[in-house]
Amino acid sequence: MTTPSFNPPVRTLMGPGPSDVHPRILEALSRPTIGHLDPVFVEMMEQTKGLLQYAFQTENPLTMPVSAPGSAGMETCFVNLVEPGDKVIVCQNGVFGGRMKENVERCGGVPVMVEDEWGKSVDLGKVETALETNNDAKILAFVHAETSTGARSDAKELVELAHRHDCLTIVDAVTSLGGSELKVDDWGIDTIYSGTQKCLSCTPGIAPISFNERALDKVRNRQSKVQSWFLDLNLVMGYWGSGQKRAYHHTAPVNALYGLHESLCILQAEGIESAWQRHNKMHTALKAGLEAMGLSFIVDESHRLPQLNAVSIPEGVDDAMVRSRLLNEYNLEIGAGLGALAGKVWRIGLMGHSARAENILLCIGALEAVLSEMNAPINTGVALAAMQQVLSSEK
Ligand SMILES: *Cc1c(COP(=O)(O)O)cnc(C)c1O
Repeated sequence: MTTPSFNPPVRTLMGPGPSDVHPRILEALSRPTIGHLDPVFVEMMEQTKGLLQYAFQTENPLTMPVSAPGSAGMETCFVNLVEPGDKVIVCQNGVFGGRMKENVERCGGVPVMVEDEWGKSVDLGKVETALETNNDAKILAFVHAETSTGARSDAKELVELAHRHDCLTIVDAVTSLGGSELKVDDWGIDTIYSGTQKCLSCTPGIAPISFNERALDKVRNRQSKVQSWFLDLNLVMGYWGSGQKRAYHHTAPVNALYGLHESLCILQAEGIESAWQRHNKMHTALKAGLEAMGLSFIVDESHRLPQLNAVSIPEGVDDAMVRSRLLNEYNLEIGAGLGALAGKVWRIGLMGHSARAENILLCIGALEAVLSEMNAPINTGVALAAMQQVLSSEK
Protein backbone atom coordinates (compact mmCIF):
# COMPACT_ATOMS: atom_id res chain seq x y z
CA MET A 1 0.00 0.00 0.00
CA THR A 2 1.29 3.44 -0.84
CA THR A 3 0.40 6.48 1.21
CA PRO A 4 -1.75 8.92 -0.72
CA SER A 5 -0.86 12.62 -0.99
CA PHE A 6 -2.02 14.83 1.82
CA ASN A 7 -4.91 17.07 0.87
CA PRO A 8 -6.00 19.41 3.65
CA PRO A 9 -9.57 20.71 3.77
CA VAL A 10 -10.17 24.35 2.88
CA ARG A 11 -10.78 26.18 6.15
CA THR A 12 -11.50 29.75 7.13
CA LEU A 13 -8.88 30.64 9.72
CA MET A 14 -10.11 33.04 12.39
CA GLY A 15 -8.01 31.98 15.33
CA PRO A 16 -4.80 33.42 16.80
CA GLY A 17 -2.80 32.42 13.71
CA PRO A 18 -2.09 31.10 11.20
CA SER A 19 -4.52 33.35 9.38
CA ASP A 20 -5.97 32.79 5.90
CA VAL A 21 -3.13 32.81 3.40
CA HIS A 22 -3.79 35.04 0.41
CA PRO A 23 -4.10 32.97 -2.82
CA ARG A 24 -1.39 35.09 -4.42
CA ILE A 25 0.99 33.95 -1.69
CA LEU A 26 0.11 30.27 -2.14
CA GLU A 27 0.77 30.68 -5.83
CA ALA A 28 4.13 32.39 -5.17
CA LEU A 29 5.22 29.45 -2.99
CA SER A 30 4.97 27.05 -5.93
CA ARG A 31 7.33 29.01 -8.19
CA PRO A 32 10.57 27.26 -9.23
CA THR A 33 13.14 26.79 -6.50
CA ILE A 34 16.48 28.40 -7.31
CA GLY A 35 19.82 28.42 -5.50
CA HIS A 36 19.92 30.53 -2.37
CA LEU A 37 23.09 32.27 -3.55
CA ASP A 38 21.76 32.76 -7.09
CA PRO A 39 22.11 36.47 -7.95
CA VAL A 40 18.40 36.59 -8.78
CA PHE A 41 17.55 35.22 -5.35
CA VAL A 42 19.95 37.64 -3.68
CA GLU A 43 18.15 40.49 -5.41
CA MET A 44 14.86 39.22 -4.01
CA MET A 45 16.43 39.10 -0.53
CA GLU A 46 17.39 42.76 -0.88
CA GLN A 47 13.85 43.69 -1.93
CA THR A 48 12.45 41.72 0.98
CA LYS A 49 14.57 43.71 3.43
CA GLY A 50 13.29 46.96 1.92
CA LEU A 51 9.69 45.78 2.10
CA LEU A 52 10.16 44.73 5.72
CA GLN A 53 11.56 48.17 6.53
CA TYR A 54 8.33 49.57 5.15
CA ALA A 55 6.18 47.17 7.18
CA PHE A 56 8.11 48.00 10.37
CA GLN A 57 8.30 51.71 9.46
CA THR A 58 12.05 51.75 9.99
CA GLU A 59 15.25 52.52 8.17
CA ASN A 60 17.30 50.09 10.23
CA PRO A 61 19.71 48.36 7.81
CA LEU A 62 19.46 45.24 9.97
CA THR A 63 15.87 44.38 9.09
CA MET A 64 15.49 40.83 7.84
CA PRO A 65 13.60 37.57 8.08
CA VAL A 66 14.98 34.88 10.42
CA SER A 67 14.56 31.42 8.88
CA ALA A 68 12.31 30.03 11.61
CA PRO A 69 8.99 30.89 13.32
CA GLY A 70 8.14 33.87 15.53
CA SER A 71 9.58 32.11 18.57
CA ALA A 72 12.99 32.13 16.85
CA GLY A 73 12.60 35.86 16.32
CA MET A 74 12.08 36.12 20.07
CA GLU A 75 15.19 34.04 20.72
CA THR A 76 17.22 36.08 18.24
CA CYS A 77 16.56 39.22 20.25
CA PHE A 78 17.29 37.63 23.62
CA VAL A 79 20.36 35.55 22.77
CA ASN A 80 22.04 38.45 21.01
CA LEU A 81 21.23 41.14 23.54
CA VAL A 82 21.31 39.39 26.90
CA GLU A 83 24.67 38.47 28.37
CA PRO A 84 25.18 36.36 31.50
CA GLY A 85 24.39 38.47 34.56
CA ASP A 86 22.38 41.09 32.65
CA LYS A 87 19.28 42.24 34.45
CA VAL A 88 16.21 42.35 32.20
CA ILE A 89 12.84 43.81 33.14
CA VAL A 90 10.18 41.58 31.63
CA CYS A 91 6.54 42.63 31.45
CA GLN A 92 4.00 39.84 31.63
CA ASN A 93 0.29 40.25 30.96
CA GLY A 94 -0.35 36.97 29.18
CA VAL A 95 1.36 33.88 27.79
CA PHE A 96 4.15 35.44 25.81
CA GLY A 97 5.77 37.49 28.58
CA GLY A 98 6.31 34.16 30.36
CA ARG A 99 8.31 32.92 27.41
CA MET A 100 10.44 36.06 27.53
CA LYS A 101 11.32 35.23 31.13
CA GLU A 102 12.38 31.72 30.02
CA ASN A 103 14.58 33.28 27.36
CA VAL A 104 16.31 35.61 29.81
CA GLU A 105 17.03 32.74 32.19
CA ARG A 106 18.39 30.51 29.45
CA CYS A 107 20.76 33.31 28.42
CA GLY A 108 22.09 33.49 31.98
CA GLY A 109 20.35 36.82 32.56
CA VAL A 110 18.36 37.88 35.61
CA PRO A 111 14.67 38.56 34.90
CA VAL A 112 12.77 41.11 36.98
CA MET A 113 9.07 40.52 36.40
CA VAL A 114 6.42 43.23 36.13
CA GLU A 115 3.10 41.42 36.18
CA ASP A 116 -0.31 42.58 35.11
CA GLU A 117 -3.62 40.81 35.01
CA TRP A 118 -4.42 38.89 31.83
CA GLY A 119 -6.49 41.10 29.55
CA LYS A 120 -4.94 44.32 30.87
CA SER A 121 -2.18 46.24 29.15
CA VAL A 122 1.25 46.63 30.74
CA ASP A 123 1.01 49.19 33.55
CA LEU A 124 3.37 52.11 32.90
CA GLY A 125 3.58 53.06 36.57
CA LYS A 126 4.70 49.58 37.60
CA VAL A 127 7.32 49.56 34.86
CA GLU A 128 8.62 52.94 35.97
CA THR A 129 8.92 51.71 39.56
CA ALA A 130 10.77 48.60 38.38
CA LEU A 131 13.18 50.72 36.35
CA GLU A 132 13.79 53.01 39.33
CA THR A 133 14.40 50.23 41.82
CA ASN A 134 16.61 48.30 39.39
CA ASN A 135 18.87 51.00 38.04
CA ASP A 136 21.35 48.34 36.94
CA ALA A 137 18.81 46.86 34.49
CA LYS A 138 20.01 46.75 30.89
CA ILE A 139 16.91 45.81 28.93
CA LEU A 140 13.12 46.21 29.03
CA ALA A 141 11.14 43.50 27.22
CA PHE A 142 7.42 43.52 26.55
CA VAL A 143 4.73 42.23 24.20
CA HIS A 144 3.08 44.91 22.08
CA ALA A 145 0.04 42.84 21.11
CA GLU A 146 -0.71 40.03 23.57
CA THR A 147 -2.31 37.33 21.41
CA SER A 148 -3.38 35.28 24.41
CA THR A 149 -5.75 38.03 25.60
CA GLY A 150 -6.21 40.61 22.82
CA ALA A 151 -4.68 43.48 24.82
CA ARG A 152 -2.44 46.16 23.31
CA SER A 153 0.25 47.84 25.38
CA ASP A 154 1.57 51.33 24.83
CA ALA A 155 4.82 50.58 23.03
CA LYS A 156 5.75 54.21 22.46
CA GLU A 157 5.49 55.13 26.16
CA LEU A 158 7.21 51.94 27.32
CA VAL A 159 10.18 52.56 25.03
CA GLU A 160 10.43 56.16 26.24
CA LEU A 161 10.46 54.98 29.85
CA ALA A 162 13.17 52.42 29.08
CA HIS A 163 15.38 54.96 27.36
CA ARG A 164 15.02 57.42 30.23
CA HIS A 165 16.59 54.68 32.36
CA ASP A 166 19.27 53.71 29.84
CA CYS A 167 17.69 50.43 28.91
CA LEU A 168 17.46 48.86 25.47
CA THR A 169 14.09 47.46 24.42
CA ILE A 170 12.95 44.10 23.06
CA VAL A 171 9.46 44.31 21.58
CA ASP A 172 7.26 41.37 20.57
CA ALA A 173 5.27 42.50 17.53
CA VAL A 174 4.29 39.06 16.27
CA THR A 175 0.60 39.92 16.24
CA SER A 176 0.82 43.68 15.74
CA LEU A 177 2.92 43.89 12.55
CA GLY A 178 0.58 44.75 9.67
CA GLY A 179 -2.53 44.76 11.86
CA SER A 180 -2.29 47.82 14.07
CA GLU A 181 -0.20 50.96 14.35
CA LEU A 182 3.49 50.21 14.76
CA LYS A 183 6.30 52.68 14.09
CA VAL A 184 9.70 51.31 14.94
CA ASP A 185 11.75 54.46 14.22
CA ASP A 186 9.26 57.05 15.50
CA TRP A 187 8.85 55.12 18.71
CA GLY A 188 12.59 54.43 19.07
CA ILE A 189 12.23 50.65 19.39
CA ASP A 190 15.71 49.06 19.61
CA THR A 191 14.93 45.45 18.71
CA ILE A 192 11.72 43.94 17.46
CA TYR A 193 10.55 40.59 16.16
CA SER A 194 7.44 39.37 14.42
CA GLY A 195 5.99 36.38 12.58
CA THR A 196 4.65 35.81 9.10
CA GLN A 197 1.44 33.90 9.86
CA LYS A 198 -0.51 36.56 11.74
CA CYS A 199 -1.33 39.91 10.14
CA LEU A 200 1.02 39.37 7.18
CA SER A 201 -1.16 36.38 6.22
CA CYS A 202 1.78 34.38 4.98
CA THR A 203 2.59 30.76 5.79
CA PRO A 204 4.10 30.14 9.24
CA GLY A 205 7.82 29.63 9.73
CA ILE A 206 9.59 32.95 9.26
CA ALA A 207 10.35 35.70 11.77
CA PRO A 208 10.97 39.26 10.56
CA ILE A 209 13.28 41.17 12.91
CA SER A 210 14.80 44.64 13.09
CA PHE A 211 17.70 45.96 15.21
CA ASN A 212 18.82 49.58 15.48
CA GLU A 213 22.41 50.79 15.84
CA ARG A 214 22.30 51.03 19.63
CA ALA A 215 21.25 47.42 19.87
CA LEU A 216 23.86 46.32 17.34
CA ASP A 217 26.56 48.10 19.36
CA LYS A 218 25.67 45.92 22.29
CA VAL A 219 25.79 42.81 20.10
CA ARG A 220 29.18 43.75 18.63
CA ASN A 221 30.69 44.55 22.01
CA ARG A 222 29.61 41.46 23.87
CA GLN A 223 32.05 39.97 26.39
CA SER A 224 30.86 36.44 25.63
CA LYS A 225 29.87 34.59 22.47
CA VAL A 226 26.17 34.40 21.64
CA GLN A 227 25.10 31.02 23.01
CA SER A 228 23.25 30.06 19.81
CA TRP A 229 25.34 29.49 16.70
CA PHE A 230 22.32 29.62 14.36
CA LEU A 231 20.87 32.84 15.73
CA ASP A 232 24.15 34.73 16.29
CA LEU A 233 23.61 37.92 14.30
CA ASN A 234 27.35 38.45 13.97
CA LEU A 235 27.31 35.36 11.73
CA VAL A 236 23.85 35.75 10.14
CA MET A 237 24.81 39.22 8.94
CA GLY A 238 27.48 37.69 6.71
CA TYR A 239 24.63 36.09 4.80
CA TRP A 240 21.85 38.68 5.02
CA GLY A 241 23.91 41.84 5.49
CA SER A 242 24.19 44.32 2.66
CA GLY A 243 27.29 45.56 0.89
CA GLN A 244 29.40 42.56 1.78
CA LYS A 245 29.89 39.44 -0.24
CA ARG A 246 27.38 36.87 0.86
CA ALA A 247 28.84 33.94 2.75
CA TYR A 248 26.97 30.70 3.23
CA HIS A 249 25.53 30.49 6.72
CA HIS A 250 22.47 28.27 6.27
CA THR A 251 20.22 27.51 3.32
CA ALA A 252 17.42 30.05 3.32
CA PRO A 253 13.90 28.59 2.96
CA VAL A 254 13.81 29.71 -0.67
CA ASN A 255 10.14 29.16 -1.52
CA ALA A 256 8.90 30.30 1.87
CA LEU A 257 10.70 33.57 1.22
CA TYR A 258 8.89 33.92 -2.13
CA GLY A 259 5.73 33.78 -0.04
CA LEU A 260 6.92 36.45 2.37
CA HIS A 261 8.01 38.68 -0.50
CA GLU A 262 4.57 38.33 -2.08
CA SER A 263 2.77 39.10 1.17
CA LEU A 264 4.85 42.23 1.63
CA CYS A 265 4.10 43.32 -1.96
CA ILE A 266 0.40 42.97 -1.14
CA LEU A 267 0.85 45.02 2.03
CA GLN A 268 2.81 47.72 0.20
CA ALA A 269 0.15 47.98 -2.51
CA GLU A 270 -2.61 48.32 0.09
CA GLY A 271 -0.59 50.77 2.17
CA ILE A 272 0.29 50.11 5.78
CA GLU A 273 -2.12 52.69 7.17
CA SER A 274 -4.97 51.36 5.05
CA ALA A 275 -4.21 47.89 6.38
CA TRP A 276 -4.44 49.19 9.96
CA GLN A 277 -7.74 50.88 9.12
CA ARG A 278 -9.15 47.76 7.50
CA HIS A 279 -8.38 45.72 10.63
CA ASN A 280 -10.15 48.37 12.69
CA LYS A 281 -13.21 48.48 10.51
CA MET A 282 -13.56 44.69 10.41
CA HIS A 283 -13.14 44.58 14.18
CA THR A 284 -15.87 47.19 14.64
CA ALA A 285 -18.22 45.17 12.42
CA LEU A 286 -17.46 41.89 14.20
CA LYS A 287 -17.89 43.58 17.56
CA ALA A 288 -21.28 44.99 16.55
CA GLY A 289 -22.44 41.50 15.61
CA LEU A 290 -21.06 39.77 18.69
CA GLU A 291 -22.43 42.41 21.06
CA ALA A 292 -25.85 42.33 19.40
CA MET A 293 -25.82 38.60 20.10
CA GLY A 294 -25.09 39.40 23.74
CA LEU A 295 -21.45 38.34 23.86
CA SER A 296 -18.95 40.56 25.64
CA PHE A 297 -15.26 41.36 25.26
CA ILE A 298 -12.80 40.75 28.08
CA VAL A 299 -10.46 43.61 27.14
CA ASP A 300 -11.31 47.25 27.74
CA GLU A 301 -12.12 49.15 24.55
CA SER A 302 -9.25 51.61 25.09
CA HIS A 303 -6.55 48.97 24.66
CA ARG A 304 -8.33 46.30 22.64
CA LEU A 305 -6.61 44.82 19.60
CA PRO A 306 -8.69 44.79 16.41
CA GLN A 307 -6.94 41.66 15.16
CA LEU A 308 -7.56 39.50 18.23
CA ASN A 309 -11.03 39.48 19.73
CA ALA A 310 -11.31 37.67 23.07
CA VAL A 311 -14.95 37.20 24.06
CA SER A 312 -16.37 35.50 27.13
CA ILE A 313 -18.01 32.14 26.56
CA PRO A 314 -21.66 32.39 27.66
CA GLU A 315 -22.65 30.64 30.88
CA GLY A 316 -23.21 26.89 30.49
CA VAL A 317 -21.93 26.65 26.93
CA ASP A 318 -19.61 23.77 26.03
CA ASP A 319 -16.50 25.53 24.67
CA ALA A 320 -14.93 22.56 22.88
CA MET A 321 -18.26 21.47 21.38
CA VAL A 322 -18.87 24.88 19.84
CA ARG A 323 -15.39 25.06 18.33
CA SER A 324 -15.55 21.56 16.93
CA ARG A 325 -18.98 22.17 15.39
CA LEU A 326 -17.74 25.38 13.77
CA LEU A 327 -14.80 23.45 12.36
CA ASN A 328 -16.70 20.39 11.19
CA GLU A 329 -19.90 22.00 9.95
CA TYR A 330 -18.62 25.35 8.70
CA ASN A 331 -14.89 24.77 8.13
CA LEU A 332 -14.35 27.71 10.45
CA GLU A 333 -11.53 27.80 12.98
CA ILE A 334 -11.67 30.12 15.98
CA GLY A 335 -9.21 30.02 18.87
CA ALA A 336 -9.58 28.61 22.36
CA GLY A 337 -8.47 30.42 25.51
CA LEU A 338 -4.88 29.90 26.63
CA GLY A 339 -3.46 29.49 30.12
CA ALA A 340 -5.49 31.41 32.69
CA LEU A 341 -8.23 31.99 30.10
CA ALA A 342 -8.63 28.36 28.93
CA GLY A 343 -12.33 27.45 28.81
CA LYS A 344 -13.33 31.05 29.57
CA VAL A 345 -12.92 32.82 26.22
CA TRP A 346 -12.90 32.35 22.50
CA ARG A 347 -10.24 34.18 20.55
CA ILE A 348 -11.51 35.33 17.20
CA GLY A 349 -8.70 36.46 14.94
CA LEU A 350 -9.08 39.10 12.25
CA MET A 351 -5.56 38.95 10.96
CA GLY A 352 -4.37 40.03 7.54
CA HIS A 353 -6.33 38.37 4.75
CA SER A 354 -8.77 37.01 7.37
CA ALA A 355 -9.87 40.57 8.15
CA ARG A 356 -12.48 40.84 5.44
CA ALA A 357 -16.25 41.07 5.21
CA GLU A 358 -17.00 37.54 4.00
CA ASN A 359 -15.11 36.10 6.98
CA ILE A 360 -17.01 38.03 9.60
CA LEU A 361 -20.30 37.24 7.88
CA LEU A 362 -19.46 33.55 8.09
CA CYS A 363 -18.25 33.83 11.67
CA ILE A 364 -21.30 35.68 12.97
CA GLY A 365 -23.72 33.51 11.00
CA ALA A 366 -22.12 30.20 11.98
CA LEU A 367 -21.64 31.16 15.62
CA GLU A 368 -25.27 32.23 15.91
CA ALA A 369 -26.49 29.03 14.24
CA VAL A 370 -24.43 26.75 16.50
CA LEU A 371 -25.14 28.66 19.72
CA SER A 372 -28.87 28.87 19.13
CA GLU A 373 -29.08 25.17 18.27
CA MET A 374 -27.34 24.48 21.58
CA ASN A 375 -29.89 26.70 23.35
CA ALA A 376 -27.23 29.11 24.53
CA PRO A 377 -28.47 32.35 26.14
CA ILE A 378 -27.95 34.67 23.15
CA ASN A 379 -30.09 37.12 21.17
CA THR A 380 -30.92 35.73 17.76
CA GLY A 381 -31.81 37.42 14.49
CA VAL A 382 -30.09 40.75 15.19
CA ALA A 383 -26.34 40.22 14.80
CA LEU A 384 -26.08 40.24 11.01
CA ALA A 385 -27.98 43.50 10.72
CA ALA A 386 -25.81 45.18 13.37
CA MET A 387 -22.71 44.00 11.57
CA GLN A 388 -23.91 45.07 8.15
CA GLN A 389 -24.67 48.55 9.43
CA VAL A 390 -20.98 48.98 10.26
CA LEU A 391 -19.81 47.45 6.98
CA SER A 392 -21.93 49.77 4.89
CA SER A 393 -20.91 52.89 6.84
CA GLU A 394 -18.33 55.24 5.35
CA LYS A 395 -15.14 54.87 7.34
C1 LIG B 1 2.30 33.63 17.72
C2 LIG B 1 3.10 34.43 18.68
C3 LIG B 1 4.44 34.12 18.99
C4 LIG B 1 5.12 32.88 18.50
O1 LIG B 1 5.21 32.77 17.11
P1 LIG B 1 5.42 31.33 16.46
O2 LIG B 1 5.48 31.63 15.00
O3 LIG B 1 4.24 30.51 16.88
O4 LIG B 1 6.69 30.77 16.98
C5 LIG B 1 5.11 34.96 19.84
N1 LIG B 1 4.54 36.05 20.37
C6 LIG B 1 3.26 36.38 20.11
C7 LIG B 1 2.66 37.61 20.72
C8 LIG B 1 2.50 35.58 19.26
O5 LIG B 1 1.24 35.89 18.99
